[in-house]
Amino acid sequence: MNYYGQSVTRLIEELASLPGIGGKSAQRIAFHMIHMPKEKVRSLAEAMVDARENIKYCSICCNLTDEDICPVCSDDRRDSATIMVVESPRDMAAYERTRQYQGVYHVLHGAISPMAGVEPQDIKIRELLLRLQQQEVDEVILATNPNVEGEATAMYLGRLLKPLGVKVTRIANGVPVGGDLEYVDEITLSRALEGRREL
Ligand SMILES: [Zn+2]
Repeated sequence: MNYYGQSVTRLIEELASLPGIGGKSAQRIAFHMIHMPKEKVRSLAEAMVDARENIKYCSICCNLTDEDICPVCSDDRRDSATIMVVESPRDMAAYERTRQYQGVYHVLHGAISPMAGVEPQDIKIRELLLRLQQQEVDEVILATNPNVEGEATAMYLGRLLKPLGVKVTRIANGVPVGGDLEYVDEITLSRALEGRREL
């Protein structure tokens, strides 16, 4: 029903199509926006377009970045022989917040999930293998989420990587089973990292 005129209705529909925003929130945000100063709204819209157009994958770790190589990979104080494999850039950010980890990352952008039709070739596994062939790596830490898909992905990667002669570890179960890494507090994440075991 078009109670508010076409422009506002369209805005509400667009907002409601985003994850985590239901119809009521979409209305609340839309009405907030139409009362914001015009330049604020323009800056918000520009930030969205900018992020979408300029973002790319780091050519080393597949993290999202504006540059060819992300800030973590280009920091020469980091130990590039230790690679932590995570599902998403948000998980990487969660580990960065612990300030404990000095290695680098590899971002898979997903987890293997036959139920959802996500096969190994749909996530950044090929890029990880290529990386292992091209550089000296001492340890790969599998830090995928402790849920069904994350465990399946860790198992798959463990089987794939061990024959390459690299040490493969899995983060410890300080992380709640079924949980999402990005919501776990820093202390739990640090403990999970310290208590990792070899696969
Ligand atoms: Zn990177």
